[in-house]
Amino acid sequence: MSVLSKSFYSILASALLISPLLVSASSDNDDNKTQKAPIHWSYQGDTGPIHWAELSSEFLTCKQGKNQSPENISRAVKAKLKPIAFDYAMLVPENIVNTGHSIQVNIRSGGSIKFDDKEFFLKQFHFHSPSENQIDGVSYPLEAHFVHVSDDNELAVVSLLYQPGLDNLALLPLLKNMPMKVGGSSRLSAQDTQLFERKKAVKNYFRYNGSLTTPPCTEGVTWIVMQSRPGMSQRQLNVFRTALQHPNSRPVQPLNARTVLK
Ligand SMILES: [Zn+2]
Repeated sequence: MSVLSKSFYSILASALLISPLLVSASSDNDDNKTQKAPIHWSYQGDTGPIHWAELSSEFLTCKQGKNQSPENISRAVKAKLKPIAFDYAMLVPENIVNTGHSIQVNIRSGGSIKFDDKEFFLKQFHFHSPSENQIDGVSYPLEAHFVHVSDDNELAVVSLLYQPGLDNLALLPLLKNMPMKVGGSSRLSAQDTQLFERKKAVKNYFRYNGSLTTPPCTEGVTWIVMQSRPGMSQRQLNVFRTALQHPNSRPVQPLNARTVLK
C-alpha cells in the first residue's frame, strides 16, 4: 500500500497530543521534516523493491521485518472470524491523484469499518497492477487497497482483488476522471466512489498481520483480504495500466511465523 507515511502519523499523533503552548516548538520539527526531500524509490532497477532497505535507514524494515506484506495466501487456517461491519454510507471523496507510485483516491470523511470492537476510518484507497497479494499463487490483474486508521493510529487495510471479466460499472467514474500523468488530479463527487455497497457485514475474508507494501514497510498493519472478487474488463485494466505507466507491485514476502486466518 502506498500511503500516508509513518512520519505523517507521527506528525498527526503529535499534532493531536501537543498543547497549544507547545505548538511553535513542534512546528519547527515539522518544518524540518517537510524540508527533507523524499527518498526516491520505485518498482524497477536500482531503486526497486529488493533495494528499498539500501536507500535509507528509515527503510530497513523492508529487509529486516518478519511480518511483511504482500502475501501469497495459501493454507489459510479456518477460524471463527466475526463479520466486519462496513459503513461507507456517507463517503465523501476529495480527489483522485496520480502519485507516480499509484492511482489514489483521497477520502475527506464518511467511511469506516469495525472489527475487534474498534472502529477504523477510511483515509484513502489506491490501486496496484498486477495484484500484490496472491491467492494460492495466483496473481490478479488489479488490487485495490482501502487504508483505514483508528483513533489510536492503528492501520487496517482492506484488499479487493479484481478478476478478468466484463466492464465493472463501479469503476467507470474513476476511469472517467483518471489522471493520466504523474502529479495529475481530478475532483470526485460522492457518486463517484461506490466500489462497495454502502453498508454491509462481510463474513468471507482472509486476515493476517502485515506491513505497508511500500517504504518504509512499517509493520503492525491488519490485512483484510476479501474473498469475493469483482470482475473488470481488459479495456478498463488498460486505462489503469496506462495511467500507472509501470507495474506497481511489491513481490510477495515470506510468511515466517505468521498464520493467515479465514
Ligand atoms: Zn497498496
